[in-house]
Order: sequence, then C-alpha cells, then structure tokens
Amino acid sequence: MEIKHNSSLKPYNTFGIEVSAKHFVEIHSVAELQELQLSDYFKLPKLILGGGSNILFTKDFDGLAIKLSIKGIEKLQENNDHVMVKVGAGENWHQFVLTSIENKWAGIENMSLIPGTVGAAPMQNIGAYGVEIKEVFVELEAFNIQSGETKVFNKEACEFGYRWSVFKGELKDQYIITSVTFQLAKQPTFKTEYGDIKNTLEEMNVTELSIKAISDAVVKIRQSKLPDPKQLGNAGSFFKNPEIPKNQFEKLKEKFPAVPGYPVSGDLVKVPAGWLIDQAGWKGRTIGAVGVHKNQALVLVNYGKGTGEQIYSLAMDIKRAVKNIYDVDINPEVNIY
Ligand code: FAD
Ligand code: NAP
Repeated sequence: MEIKHNSSLKPYNTFGIEVSAKHFVEIHSVAELQELQLSDYFKLPKLILGGGSNILFTKDFDGLAIKLSIKGIEKLQENNDHVMVKVGAGENWHQFVLTSIENKWAGIENMSLIPGTVGAAPMQNIGAYGVEIKEVFVELEAFNIQSGETKVFNKEACEFGYRWSVFKGELKDQYIITSVTFQLAKQPTFKTEYGDIKNTLEEMNVTELSIKAISDAVVKIRQSKLPDPKQLGNAGSFFKNPEIPKNQFEKLKEKFPAVPGYPVSGDLVKVPAGWLIDQAGWKGRTIGAVGVHKNQALVLVNYGKGTGEQIYSLAMDIKRAVKNIYDVDINPEVNIY
C-alpha cells in the first residue's frame, strides 16, 4: 500500500477535471483497508473513489483520497433457477455485466456500458432501460469508517429509491462498500419495452432474443447517443429526472402539451429533465471550455480545459432557467466535491 502525495485526480474522474488530492492511496483488499485505518492518514477527511464517473471536483481535496480496487467475482450458491455472486467493489461494472452474460446469468443486461465500479453501483441504485440494481441486489459488505467494523446491509437497509440509497442520505461518507452480492437468474426475463431497444434489435436483425442480444443493443444505443468519457469529459446525466405531483404535471402539460411524463409510485410523475433542458434551449450550447452535449441535454461536458467550477456554474444556470420556465426543480445526480 503506497500513499502518494499531491496526486493529480485527473485520471480518476471522467469529467477530466485537473484537481489534486493532498494524499492518495489505492486499496486492493479489506486487510489493506484495516491497515490504513490504523495510520494517521486515516484521521484526515476522506474521499472514496470508484471509477470517478459520477463525481464533479470543484476544488483540490485537502485530505486522503481512497481509490477502491478490491477485485474478485465469487459464485456463492447456485440452483436450477438462480446464481448468487459476490463481487469486489473495485470490479468494473460493465466487465461484470459481460462476465454475467458469458455465464448466461440474466438480470443486468439492460445496464450494459454503465461506467464505474461495482462498489459504487448501490450508492445511487444505478439504473438504465427500465432496470435498477435493487432488482438483483442481495446484500453488500461495508467498512464503517469510524469503527473499522464490517457491516452487512440487506436490500431493506440500503433504502433504495430512484437513483438513491441510504449511502447518499443518512449514511453519507460513513461507509466504504467493499463487496456487493447479486442474485442473477438462469431463466431470463427479457425487458425490451424501454426506449429504442426493440427497434435496435430489429435493425440488428436479431431473430432469437437473448441477454447477449439485449446487451449488444443497449451498447449500440448508448454509443450512438452518449459521449465516451475517454474522448469528451462527462459524468453521464448531470441531473436527476424530477418527480412531481400529478396535479403539478397536469398544469405543466396545459402549458407545454408535448412534455413527457411517466407515472411512478404514489401520486408522482417522472419528467425527463433532458426534455426540459432541451426545450429551454440549452442543448448543444458551449460556454467557454464546457457545455451541454449536442445529442443529450442531460449530459454536461468538459471540452478539455474546463474546471469543475465552470461546470457547476453552468449547471446552476440551467437549474435556474428550468425553474423560471417550468417552475420545476431539477437537482444534480452527480456527487459534487
Ligand atoms: P464514483 O464516481 O467514483 O463515485 C460516486 C459516489 O460514490 C461518490 O460519492 C463516491 O465517494 C462514492 N463511492 C464510490 N465507490 C464507493 C465505495 N466503494 N464505497 C462507498 N462510497 C463509494 N448511472 C446510472 O445510474 N445509469 C446510467 O445509465 C449511467 N450512465 C452513465 C453514462 C456515462 C457516459 C457516465 C459517464 C456515467 C453514467 N452513469 C450512469 C453514472 C455513473 O456511471 C454511475 O453512477 C456509477 O455507478 C458510478 O460509479 P463510479 O465507480 O464511477 O463512482
Ligand atoms: P431516453 O430513452 O431518451 O428517455 C428519456 C428519459 O425518459 C429517461 O431518463 C427515462 O428515465 C425516461 N423514460 C423513457 N422511457 C421510459 C419508460 N418507458 N418508463 C419510464 N421512464 C422512461 O433516455 P436516455 O437518455 O437515452 O437514457 C436511456 C437510459 O439510460 C435511461 O434509463 C437513463 O436513465 C440511462 N442513462 C443514465 C445516465 C446517468 O448518468 N444516470 C446516463 C445515460 C443514460 P430513467 O432515466 O428513469 O430511465
């Protein structure tokens, strides 16, 4: 375990923001984490890092950045219907999806090509194309930053919501997730209703549906719509889709008849923030070295030399514009430091 000093975080955030951490360490096992806990560095403020694909740095970090690189995919149990797999927090999410597909384990194929690590996936209950990880989640193991004890959180304890978990709320910055256990299905239930999946499968001339075909279709759609962070700095959707009361949605629809809305739990309607931002005229706009992506209004981009403050300031301008036009609050999904 090597502690580096005044270390650039640019390689560790997909926005490609140039900031530094006073101290930086990469952790490969729970034992290393326990060892780190005994050092004086652990008394400093801590920043936990996975793949840095849901983070915006607005300043240097005056503490210890801990990059989670705990690996391993272990099959715990298997029967005719299911397999239970425990995965190290530092495994790459998409690689885990590909491993599952190779093994014919179903349930996460719709979440192909989401960047980042397995350990960060429960943080915001990642989701795409109608599937969220809570649907395949069994439990996770997490290291209590204060006590150094390991705690197991089952699904209920994680309090999963829409792009939400207890680790973004009440337990923020209190635990380091070290592994996640999933239950995947041997008999797939295909989910193709969402977005362009069906059309894309047709375009690809898929005659026999499979989890591999769905994954390939999702990858194809995402590559056509979303900027690759290796080429253009971004952190995916910057804002969460707002969920507003039904009566507020009806009033909004009177003024803006084309506004899409998807009923969610209770009396709430989810409104695509991308639509609101696009219609407000922000899609494709460039402000200095940062901007709003030309194909996807929810994605803010760094053209190379942008700073976190510039991206944050753009995000706040967009938030204000959306509030003024539609009287709807949109809030960042990205974690801002
Ligand atoms: P990081 O950005 O490193 O961290 C995110 C937060 O979790 C931070 O607060 C960090 O401190 C904390 N954290 C990270 N690891 C741990 C850990 N082991 N223990 C405790 N805390 C931890 N998200 C979706 O939900 N659906 C999508 O379809 C999607 N598409 C995307 C597309 C693109 C092009 C990009 C760039 C991002 C996309 N995202 C999407 C957002 C992002 O990929 C996910 O949120 C992902 O889970 C973040 O993983 P990460 O390892 O990069 O987390
Ligand atoms: P899209 O298909 O253009 O749809 C726009 C929005 O409408 C999505 O955000 C989605 O909400 C919602 N939506 C569409 N069809 C829906 C349905 N049948 N039922 C309920 N909600 C529906 O979206 P996109 O931007 O191309 O993204 C496709 C998927 O990838 C989405 O699930 C999106 O969340 C995910 N994605 C996430 C990120 C991220 O960083 N979080 C980045 C890129 C893509 P939901 O977002 O709730 O699904």
